[in-house]
Amino acid sequence: MIDNFDTLRETVLGCTACRLCEGRTKVVFGAGNPNARVMVIGEGPGREEDLRGEPFVGRSGQLMDKMLAHVGLTREKNIFIANMVKCRPPENRDPRPDEVEVCIQYLRNQVALIRPKIIVCMGRVAAISLIDPNFKVTQQHGQFNEKNGVLMMGTYHPAALLRSPSNKPAALQDMLNLQQKIMEICPETYAE
Ligand code: SF4
Repeated sequence: MIDNFDTLRETVLGCTACRLCEGRTKVVFGAGNPNARVMVIGEGPGREEDLRGEPFVGRSGQLMDKMLAHVGLTREKNIFIANMVKCRPPENRDPRPDEVEVCIQYLRNQVALIRPKIIVCMGRVAAISLIDPNFKVTQQHGQFNEKNGVLMMGTYHPAALLRSPSNKPAALQDMLNLQQKIMEICPETYAE
């Protein structure tokens, strides 16, 4: 475990520990406030993220930002966003289990340094790795489960919402559930 956030960032930016390093443009370490009480975790960088080195940019990132802003959360201020894998899988395929197994060490290290109270998994890939190997987004979204002292909730990935907008109301309700949970256990998230 690396005990300094900047050193961890430098290490991840130079990583070649799995095959995903071969096709990447930029490593996507994560973004946001490293003192946040809430972490948002997606699956891996897409094309825009790979080009810019930022998580959740492009259309799906804009949608995610809008949904988070709906409940007063912004990546600049009160959340930290990371992915299961830090380099883009080719053709936007799902990251493979062996890639996740290698890269998750960095996510664990980020979680250990940030020590969030709440983790939101955006989409199935993050939820099956972090919450429940049989996680079904359509059935289990919006529910909180405690794991190792952290409350975990899975919800729809914004890219999936762009494909199926009929799920947007359910996803917005998940954000409202999140807001309520934040007010219960880490209201300092909303402090100025
Ligand atoms: S995906 Fe993760 S483990 Fe693989 S090369 Fe990128 S940073 Fe390293």
